[in-house]
Amino acid sequence: MKDAAPATAPETFYLKDYKPFGFEVETVELTFKLAPNSTRVLSKIRFSPQDNAADPRFFLHGEALKLISAKIDGAPVTPELIAGGLICDTPGTPFTWEAEVEIAPAANTALEGLYMSSGMYCTQCEAEGFRKITYYPDRPDVMSTFSVRIEGDETVLLSNGNPAGSGEGWAEWHDPWPKPAYLFALVAGDLVNHPDHFTTRSGKDVELNIWVRPGDEGKCAFGMEALKKSMKWDEDVYGREYDLDIFNIVAVDDFNMGAMENKGLNIFNSSCVLASPETSTDANFERIEAIIAHEYFHNWTGNRITCRDWFQLCLKEGLTVFRDAQFTADMRSEPVKRIEDVIALRARQFPEDNGPLAHPPRPEQFQEINNFYTATVYEKGAEVIGMLKRLVGDDNYDKALDLYFDRHDGQACTIEDWLRVFEDATGRDLSQFKLWYSQAGTPRVKVSEDYADGSYTLTFEQSTPPTPGQPDKAPRVIPLAVGLLAANGDELRATEVLELIEAKQSFTFDGLASKPVPSILREFSAPVILERETTNAERAFLLAHDTDPFNRWEAGNALATETRVTMVTEGAAPDGAYLDALEKLVRDDTLDPAFRALVLSPPSQSEIAQTLHDRGVTPDPQKIYDAAETFAQTLAQQLETSLPRLYAATTVDGPYQPDANGAGLRALNGRILSLLTRLDGGEQAARQYQAADNMTQQYAALAALMKAENGERQSQAFFDQWQNDRLVMDKWFALQVACAAPDAAAKVATDLTRHTLFDMKNPNRFRAVMGALAGNHAGFHHASGAGYQLLAENLIALDSLNPQTTARMCAAFQTWKRYDSARQASIRVELERILATEGLSRDTHEMVSRILQG
Ligand SMILES: [Zn+2]
Repeated sequence: MKDAAPATAPETFYLKDYKPFGFEVETVELTFKLAPNSTRVLSKIRFSPQDNAADPRFFLHGEALKLISAKIDGAPVTPELIAGGLICDTPGTPFTWEAEVEIAPAANTALEGLYMSSGMYCTQCEAEGFRKITYYPDRPDVMSTFSVRIEGDETVLLSNGNPAGSGEGWAEWHDPWPKPAYLFALVAGDLVNHPDHFTTRSGKDVELNIWVRPGDEGKCAFGMEALKKSMKWDEDVYGREYDLDIFNIVAVDDFNMGAMENKGLNIFNSSCVLASPETSTDANFERIEAIIAHEYFHNWTGNRITCRDWFQLCLKEGLTVFRDAQFTADMRSEPVKRIEDVIALRARQFPEDNGPLAHPPRPEQFQEINNFYTATVYEKGAEVIGMLKRLVGDDNYDKALDLYFDRHDGQACTIEDWLRVFEDATGRDLSQFKLWYSQAGTPRVKVSEDYADGSYTLTFEQSTPPTPGQPDKAPRVIPLAVGLLAANGDELRATEVLELIEAKQSFTFDGLASKPVPSILREFSAPVILERETTNAERAFLLAHDTDPFNRWEAGNALATETRVTMVTEGAAPDGAYLDALEKLVRDDTLDPAFRALVLSPPSQSEIAQTLHDRGVTPDPQKIYDAAETFAQTLAQQLETSLPRLYAATTVDGPYQPDANGAGLRALNGRILSLLTRLDGGEQAARQYQAADNMTQQYAALAALMKAENGERQSQAFFDQWQNDRLVMDKWFALQVACAAPDAAAKVATDLTRHTLFDMKNPNRFRAVMGALAGNHAGFHHASGAGYQLLAENLIALDSLNPQTTARMCAAFQTWKRYDSARQASIRVELERILATEGLSRDTHEMVSRILQG
């Protein structure tokens, strides 16, 4: 076998090695002379040595640049060009650096730095893309003001900050707020705008624009409303006001991420901003609202206060995800948002935290920082802030945040700075709490209980399994929100937050007339796995009576999981008591439809596989799939007589509105339609498809029909209608693979990669097919190994074009140790094949190596 190690091992960067840059950057002036294959970038940068700068030479990052000329204080210099940048002697006093470089945006398929998408120029600089634009100290702790001149034939020429002048073929921009280079942005294209404006609370008028390609201007109104709501919310809730005269958003078709918070010029993956009732589902609308808010909120948490180094990424991302979740909860339903977030956390972050890619929210080492834009940094980072808020209380949280903004505005900060404001604002010692930032792995909390003479005692034991590089873990501070219920469903004790700080700790409740039923980890107060011996009867009781909506859903989720597990391991029939409980709940009109839809949504097949693995059973993906099918069929039959009435009762009349109430009803309606389709062969779904005037209902009908007899015909009709809409076509591509039977999924995906509309260079389209394959649990893990092989082949093909997206999608293999030895062997072959690819990117090399080693 070929040696898998690359000729030179990629460099590893460590948090402990942090050193400040030896120079201050006072001002940056950039001129871009745009041309697809030969853009010239002229930089004029004022540097001054820091007092402690021992070395008069300086290092500037630079990658894939052709250096045309360099000068210091007007005199030509010849820097030493090395891997990753250049080294140059400096005068030892303040000086002006000038450089001219040439780059080729049209050849940039990695979508980092300056690149082209459908004829327009755009940039993506986070994390380390600016070094592909010009030589610069490309690190977040170097902050400076930027003035930019763009020369090009495009009608719209945009950069950060405020407009500073424009004319035929040129435009100038000035950003008065010092920023790191990763927040730099440039857009040039023949674009049209959806304009609006916003008056801040201090009375300043801000011009707002969403820039799109001609033809998409009708899909901007919702995004614009979301932006204005975000601006208002950040003033009302966090006291944060916008700080420039203009705020621009641009939609781009080819984009690795969801969106990017560049100062005053946010660049969005078009799927995360363009929306219309005809082409977008309710889920799309909710996501767009959240992402627009997220990027806007970064203006304070990320831009005004940024990260000292990339190890601190969760400082800006954890906090901003937390803020956007608060926003969505305020705009929509708090419990529904919490349940959705926990579903996502368990689907994406828990597997990461319990596998070979486990890392702390603040990692201590990396080879490629792009590989750490993870669910752990983002979503667990947000959970950590949620715990902090719960521990210190809402008022203290507000006090600490005010102090954070006052103390650190204009700075590049660390997690230590962040925790210190909470310590200073509250007097609380957070040294043990800080372990959440440095320890990987999801803590297990084992619960036991005891009742005697009116005294009820809960005992908790915490432990965290070993993760790569961290065999032993110290006990953490875990806030456990607990309530107690009486046998008749009355609440005996309202929610109280117990602070678990020891490895094992007991809490006693006195004065209880009888043994209560505990409701533990209400609102999912900490990202842990609760282990408690309980009965299905008690779960059913909590599903019916818990006053905490999250735990009510959680009880149903636990019942659903137990039912699936016994179906798989014992070949049992679906649990009758659970089916009865579901029926009662789905018919209960007093409950929020969105909540009922969530209770009706089964745990994912991947989650069942993880549960089995945790209990020492090797999961069989086909059996898990069969159990899911049997359960759905049995539930449909149980509800047979009430399904038509429920369907009618949850059908939303009148024109489509993407509001929370309508979305909740349509979600429930969609669940009912999929059950109904199992009984009527798709009659109702076909009628709904024909009548639908919005994508939510059209798509729900198509998804239901995909497994029915006329699925293929309907899918063709959908294709014919929408083939010219890229975003709708992404849905079509993904749905084919998601709905394919286990033995057909790889074949369906293969055929789609040969489709004329498949474009590997477009991350959305690639993810639509390959992401859906990885998400089709039984199909991806089919015993033939065809799913593994197909994904590996496509990752190898994509790596030379777009390392970032390739590396991220390698995570599909991270759960491989759950499965039987034959599947593990098949996956190992594919991982080793990827690793042996000549010229493999540093990104993918790091990911695959970690997955193999873990
Ligand atoms: Zn972000």
